[in-house]
Amino acid sequence: MSFSEILNNREVGKQLDILAQNRRIPHAVVLECRDSKLINKVSARIAAAFLCESESDIPCGRCKACNKALRGIHPDVKTLSTGGKQSVGVGEIREMISDCYITANEGIGKVYCIFDKMTTEAQNALLKVLEEPPQRVQFIIATEKSTLLLKTVLSRAGLFKLTSDNDDKISAEAFDIAVEIAKAIPESVELPLIAATSGLTKSRDLMKQTLDQLSEFLMEALERKYLGESGGEDYIIRLSNVLKRNSIIKIMDVINKARESNEHNCNLNVLSTWICANIRESKH
Ligand SMILES: [Zn+2]
Repeated sequence: MSFSEILNNREVGKQLDILAQNRRIPHAVVLECRDSKLINKVSARIAAAFLCESESDIPCGRCKACNKALRGIHPDVKTLSTGGKQSVGVGEIREMISDCYITANEGIGKVYCIFDKMTTEAQNALLKVLEEPPQRVQFIIATEKSTLLLKTVLSRAGLFKLTSDNDDKISAEAFDIAVEIAKAIPESVELPLIAATSGLTKSRDLMKQTLDQLSEFLMEALERKYLGESGGEDYIIRLSNVLKRNSIIKIMDVINKARESNEHNCNLNVLSTWICANIRESKH
C-alpha cells in the first residue's frame, strides 16, 4: 500500500512515495494534520520506509522490519509521551536525545515520533539535534498547524501537509450513503447496491464526499485484511471478511476513477450507474 493510496492529498502522497522508494525521506519530517488516525498510519509507513530491509519497493511491507513498524510494535520506533502533562517538555526531549545515540535494538536505526504539542523550551532542545542529527535516526513530528512550531524547527525538517486546507468535511448525508454502499457491496444480489448508489445523483459535491468516505472505508477493510485487527464497525468487518484482497483493491480503483470523472463533470446518473456496474464487476 503506497502513501498515495492512504492520502487524499495525492500530490503529497506521490512525493512521499518517490522519497521512500529512493530512501530520501528527510531525517526530520513534520506532518501537518488534524486527523490522529491518519497521522498514525502515515508515520507507521514512514517508520517502515526507514527501517525496511528490502533493496527495492520500499517500504516493501513484507520484511520483518516493515511488518513490525506497520503494526506499531517495532522496538526501535518510539513515541514520546507527555508524562501526564499537556505538552512534551524539555525533559522528555533531552531523554530522547540521549537515547538516540544508543544503538538500535534490532533495526538499522531508530525512529522517534512526537505527536503531542511541545513547549518552546522543548522545541529549542530538539532544534540542537535537528541541526546536527545523529546517524540513522528518523524524527516524525505531528502538528495540527505547522505555524505552531518554531520557524527554526520547521526550517530543519521536511513539511508534509497531509490534508489540504480546503478539504471539505464529510456531511452526514454523504456518510450515510457511503455506509449504505459499504453494506451493499458484499451482498450477492444487485438491488441493495443500485438503491444505495442512486442517492449519489443529487449533487456533484455529495458524490465527491461520499466517494471520499467510501474510499476510507475500503482502506480500513483492506487494513484489517493485512493486520487482522479486531473490533470496528460491522460493515467494515463484513467487507474485509467477504471480499478478497484483490477485489477490495479493484473497487478502490473504481472509486478513484469515479472521483476523477466527477471532477471532469461527467453526468451524475451515468456515473452512478457506472460505479454500480464496476463495483459488481470487481468482485469477481
Ligand atoms: Zn520492508
